[in-house]
Amino acid sequence: METRDKLADFQQQILNEAPRLSASSRFRFACRPGISCFGVCCRDVNIVLGPYDVLRLRRRLGMGSQEFLAEHTILPFAEDQRLPVPLLKMGQGEEKRCPFLGEQGCTVYEDRPWPCRAYPIGEASSGTSSRPGEKFYFLVEEAHCKGHGEADEWSVGEWLEKEGVSPYQAFGELLKEITLHPRLAQGKALPPKQIEMYFMASYELDRFRRFIFESRFLECYEVARDYADRLREDDEELLRFGLSWLRFALFGEPTIRVKPEVLEAKRKEMAKRP
Ligand code: SF4
Ligand code: SF4
Repeated sequence: METRDKLADFQQQILNEAPRLSASSRFRFACRPGISCFGVCCRDVNIVLGPYDVLRLRRRLGMGSQEFLAEHTILPFAEDQRLPVPLLKMGQGEEKRCPFLGEQGCTVYEDRPWPCRAYPIGEASSGTSSRPGEKFYFLVEEAHCKGHGEADEWSVGEWLEKEGVSPYQAFGELLKEITLHPRLAQGKALPPKQIEMYFMASYELDRFRRFIFESRFLECYEVARDYADRLREDDEELLRFGLSWLRFALFGEPTIRVKPEVLEAKRKEMAKRP
């Protein structure tokens, strides 16, 4: 089965069958060096990367965003898919190890992606951004993972806090304003140009920064000078700005203002058209 189909099946199974947990639900789990399964979960696994995962990983590795995406991700894109979602590329060979798995464990531990942090807790939602469905957590229990047999007990909230998930969740909420947008939920496809725009402003942040500062972007949109200076330096702020601008660029939401003189010029141009 194709990677994308496997992921879709898994998501459907979670929505239909997984017991729904809240932040106060309790579970037993521990993962530590020395456990017999150490590192088994870092082989042949589908890890979906959000824009903030890519930002953290490529910065840790000292790579540009496009360089990181080309080297460390795959981009399966099914016909019925609305937006591209990169997956971490596993290594070659029978084991298909994650390229970041070292002898002592994860070599990018402080910047490991959201799914690796939260494991064995997953997060799902059954709604769209305008009609929020139930947001819930679920427990991933895989036969190879011996962590469930350990005595340590946590609430879901305690676990996620210990694993430093909150900035990932915050960026995840901003991303959902796009990925769960009613226009996409209704099954409307975006034109290729807009899909490219989405990928640039969320994942290819180096390219998006060049787009802002080397095109007519700042002549067209109202962006305060201080804020523009911040966007030159601050990757997190650039990502926040990109996700907000996309809601305007893709769906016409008023998340940014076009300069009045640009609107006036556009109006005159339209008036001249036969
Ligand atoms: S399989 Fe489970 S317990 Fe073993 S290393 Fe992975 S997360 Fe930890
Ligand atoms: S990034 Fe780290 S924790 Fe995640 S699969 Fe790779 S080695 Fe494992």
